[in-house]
Amino acid sequence: MPFQLYDTFTREVREMYAMDGDTVRFYCCGPTVYGPAHVGNFRTFVLQDVFRRVLETNGLKTYHVRNLTDVDDKTIRESQAEGLSLGEFTNRWAQRFQKDCELLNLMIPHAEPSAVDHIPEQISLIERLIEAGNAYQASDGSVYFKVEAFAKYGRLSRLAEREITTNEISRETSDEYERDSAADFALWKARQQDDGENYWESPWGQGRPGWHIECSAMSMKYLGESFDLHSGGVDLIFPHHENEIAQSESVTGKTFARHWFHIAHLMVEGTKMSKSLGNLYTLDDIIDRGYGIQEVRYLLLSGSYRQPLNFTFDSLKAAQKAIKKLADFAKKIDSSASPLGSSLATEFGPFLPVQQAILKDMNTSDALGKLFGLVREISEALSKGNYANGAGEINRLRTGFRSVLDLFGLRFSEEKEEAVPAEVKKWAEQRWQAKQSKDWTAADQFREKIQQAGWVVKDSKDSFELIKA
Ligand code: AMP
Ligand code: ZN
Repeated sequence: MPFQLYDTFTREVREMYAMDGDTVRFYCCGPTVYGPAHVGNFRTFVLQDVFRRVLETNGLKTYHVRNLTDVDDKTIRESQAEGLSLGEFTNRWAQRFQKDCELLNLMIPHAEPSAVDHIPEQISLIERLIEAGNAYQASDGSVYFKVEAFAKYGRLSRLAEREITTNEISRETSDEYERDSAADFALWKARQQDDGENYWESPWGQGRPGWHIECSAMSMKYLGESFDLHSGGVDLIFPHHENEIAQSESVTGKTFARHWFHIAHLMVEGTKMSKSLGNLYTLDDIIDRGYGIQEVRYLLLSGSYRQPLNFTFDSLKAAQKAIKKLADFAKKIDSSASPLGSSLATEFGPFLPVQQAILKDMNTSDALGKLFGLVREISEALSKGNYANGAGEINRLRTGFRSVLDLFGLRFSEEKEEAVPAEVKKWAEQRWQAKQSKDWTAADQFREKIQQAGWVVKDSKDSFELIKA
């Protein structure tokens, strides 16, 4: 079944496919690393993660790039306030971000480039823009993109329809440098006193790149001049993504991203959750209040990505109940008699309607509704003893349920890991090591020991899983 997704550019729900017929290549604008990410940011990152899972469980390969914004006004200002170098400061927050992503079970992107590591690529893109007549140098050494020179400017955010004037653009992009027209935006910012030691040499003197150019340079480096999909929260549609299109298409003449996927905001009492408004919750804030990570992930998936979602502790409580139901169901099907546990392949089996719902414009809310309907029905049938006629059927059920949890990125691993005795885990790790060094005899001996202890080890490409026999 094809995967349909709304495209901000055409304002239509369109089929997702790989341009090259093989791998869906996509770019997600990553965090600005100057503090902990909040659950609003994670709404966007979790939805992007599910987007990837939908593709992969539907049999497509992916190549996922997410950048780190590690130089801008905020990172410079905050690092100075703490008396740290920019690198020390942003590294700390980048590590915290990665730890939070791991907790939330976000798949690791195939590439995670940072702006500071790609200054030459950004300079060379600016040079090409100047050569093409789409950018100019101001008297202070800053370089600006000449919006007037890109006739298609404003198509993504429908500037003409919104009748935004150049004055409004100027307010939205607010920066204090010299430029010809209020609409023009900075590609390169000449060094200012406040920048301290945070500057790079360039053909236009010392300075640093603007925010928009980093994403054009890095996305094209890792994905090519034209790629399948570009994504971020809705606040990035204008000006960030509009500007990325202008910068990239001015030099390549090609369609930059073929599909634009934007996620509506997580709100708190009617306003966007954001660092600048100070109405944010981090993962730690939520865990400190006694909630689990799966509950956060569930809450973030409980509404359609096209609609704003309100964050409340009541909805977190509802998420807690929902997760408990799923965990109970997992236990119930695990305790149903069967010798072998689930297969590692993705097969939805009785849960196919859940996958079908999510393939329709990634409606996670509808898909979760279908999941609970099925969980209720199957539970009742299991309790009455009239669900399955044997181990095969139960295995199909387990495989289907595991596939569905993978699709949403939910896991009850804490429970699972506690249940595996430390000794068995150690043997499994030793067996994995033995396999890596092609010591098949040792690997087989460890497998035997594991089996004797009542566990089955299952391998996937890069890891293994332990299942109760
Ligand atoms: P930032 O760290 O501010 O650059 O944001 C990282 C990502 O989070 C971007 O894709 C933003 O669009 C997104 N984002 C920021 N605030 C929210 C929010 N309240 N709800 C959903 N996404 C958000
Ligand atoms: Zn970006």
